[in-house]
Amino acid sequence: MAVALITGASQGIGECIAKRLAKDGYDIAINYYPTENDRAKAVKVAEACSELGARAEIFPADVSDFTQCADMVKAVKDAFGSLDALVNNAGITKDTLLTLMSEEQYDQVIAVNQKSVFNMMKPAIKLMMKQKKGAIVNMASVAGLYGNPGQINYAASKAAIIGMTKTAAKEVGARNIRVNAVAPGLIKTPMTDVLTDEQKGKIFERIALKRFGEVEEIASVVSFLLSDSASYITGQTIEISGGLEM
Ligand code: NAP
Repeated sequence: MAVALITGASQGIGECIAKRLAKDGYDIAINYYPTENDRAKAVKVAEACSELGARAEIFPADVSDFTQCADMVKAVKDAFGSLDALVNNAGITKDTLLTLMSEEQYDQVIAVNQKSVFNMMKPAIKLMMKQKKGAIVNMASVAGLYGNPGQINYAASKAAIIGMTKTAAKEVGARNIRVNAVAPGLIKTPMTDVLTDEQKGKIFERIALKRFGEVEEIASVVSFLLSDSASYITGQTIEISGGLEM
């Protein structure tokens, strides 16, 4: 059975990806941020994946921590025997205008959103190279493609992920490992629940499809990119935004 590890999978897009990949037939490793609250949510996601026929286990780790990520990849390999698919989904926002942003707000977002992708890809790709196959999807954002006022930290982290995706794809393509990214627009999750109606309204006006996205609409593209149906696609960033920018 192929094994998929999804970071930040206790809620939102990550939770939905875990369930979708369980339906696809993967065994599922669910990463969650190490708090009691997130653990309880991760247990529920694991139960849902089990009901869909997958073997599912939970793995606590702060993905901004290099050592915790290496240990988690090893723990997944020890538990399941392999790691075939990795989804670097975990992310945070600390929004405010550039002139008001603290160094801490900037550094935190870079550490959780961007450095985590290095922290996770390094041990995962080493393992996938030994296995002679693997697929990775990194979670970027339209903010990384086009910029977004109030998100200098977030836009930097997500633009970096696009460059990291292309670089890793070029480094490991010959090893039968594919690395792609998705760039969602505004998707209904706990992360975007905190936006004001005014903020949501401004984004809504720019969306060609005139609605916000659903988590399932991200999970289906991730599922495709990890599958053999996408066997000749690597280094790409697929925008999933209902036509926010064209
Ligand atoms: P979410 O509901 O806030 O979920 C993010 C998950 O990541 C949470 O479970 C969170 O745990 C976890 N996480 C945060 N920091 C972590 C860390 N250091 N280690 C491990 N896990 C950590 O957000 P979402 O909307 O599903 O977003 C998922 C991904 O999609 C993110 O990368 C986000 O940037 C990206 N994205 C989302 C949208 C959107 O419109 N929703 C658009 C573009 C891109 P806690 O709850 O404990 O923080």
